[in-house]
Amino acid sequence: MIPYGKHHIDDDDIAAVVAVLKNGWLTQGPVIDSFEAAFASYVDAKYAVAVSNGTAALHLAALAAGVGPGNALITTPITFVASANAAIYAGGRAIFSDIDPTTINMDPSELGATLRANRDTRAIVPVHFGGLPCDMKAIKAAADDAGAVVIEDAAHALGGIYADGTKVGSCTHSLMTTFSFHPVKSITAGEGGVITTNDQAIYRRLLRLRSHGINKANDSFLIPDQAVTDGATNPWYYEMQEVGFNYRITDLQCALAMSQLKKIDRFMARRRDLAKTYDKAFEGMNKCRPAQPFDRDRSGLHLYVMRFDFEAIGMSRAQFMSKLRERDIGSQVHYIPVPAQPYYRALGFDPQDYPASQSFYNEALSIPLYFDLDDDTQQRVISVIKELAA
Ligand SMILES: *Cc1c(COP(=O)(O)O)cnc(C)c1O
Repeated sequence: MIPYGKHHIDDDDIAAVVAVLKNGWLTQGPVIDSFEAAFASYVDAKYAVAVSNGTAALHLAALAAGVGPGNALITTPITFVASANAAIYAGGRAIFSDIDPTTINMDPSELGATLRANRDTRAIVPVHFGGLPCDMKAIKAAADDAGAVVIEDAAHALGGIYADGTKVGSCTHSLMTTFSFHPVKSITAGEGGVITTNDQAIYRRLLRLRSHGINKANDSFLIPDQAVTDGATNPWYYEMQEVGFNYRITDLQCALAMSQLKKIDRFMARRRDLAKTYDKAFEGMNKCRPAQPFDRDRSGLHLYVMRFDFEAIGMSRAQFMSKLRERDIGSQVHYIPVPAQPYYRALGFDPQDYPASQSFYNEALSIPLYFDLDDDTQQRVISVIKELAA
């Protein structure tokens, strides 16, 4: 079976994990710091905080941004549920703003209207869908006008580059950016995530929140009487200054992530080649087309998403997927619009209120895209799709 996405593990990845097993720290050790430094340097951010997964990264980012009771977080309907759930975890409201049908990313002009209708918005969470960077200049301008901050959900976009040439993760247009290292993403840690920022106060808050709310990075003590004897800090002493979580990542996971990060340029080059080959192969098709057929050299290319006119093809999407499966080709729908989920419908959301998202959803199907997809296998995928969607 050819999956829609898959991780790639080399012998040096295995050796990196084994080395950690042989050398001491399993968690809270030095490999986490090295990985954070390497990641921050790769994306050109000042700080990186590694956490247990991308969902934890979004949760902590929402808290650090001040999302909470009495305010709202705006994200896109076309994302994984975690982008919106971050608002709920933090005690705030989740709000959705429709996509631009040409990019499948949050539409900046829609965002203006959504902000006017939700004056209590604290954070905007654009998602670089499929890896294609959002129009961050416009989103940042809208956020600034509304007094809101931007948290980028870059789970799809490691390796992506904005229109101005800066890197996704550099926080050039945001307060924080989050990533995921789930096995289907560009690099993996098994499970893992990271938050990048250039703001030192936010960085320190994220460190506390990641580990129970206990002071880190030499935060000053709130109760000096309890902390100090004869002018020196008590050796056992620590302070929990707010409620945090155990969202730590392990040294084992960071060893894998670090080894994977060294291959990112190779990973990206292959994904770009594969995407361009698909783009070319599907040119001139009438009943299907790539959903985001541009800026391939700037996209993180997590997914290769197509739009199919299933009515014209004469098959339901379910039938089409099972025809692909019969030929050993995996496919997936990214995503069911989040407002269509029962939890969000029960909060009063109606997916029909997001027409661009709904019409994209009706046509969307992601086809195989991953580093190890070889040319022959890709050609087989192409010919089956051309046959089924002729
Ligand atoms: C994968 C993903 C997440 C969640 O990351 P996990 O590491 O699986 O928790 C969040 N947002 C988007 C857009 C994702 O694709």
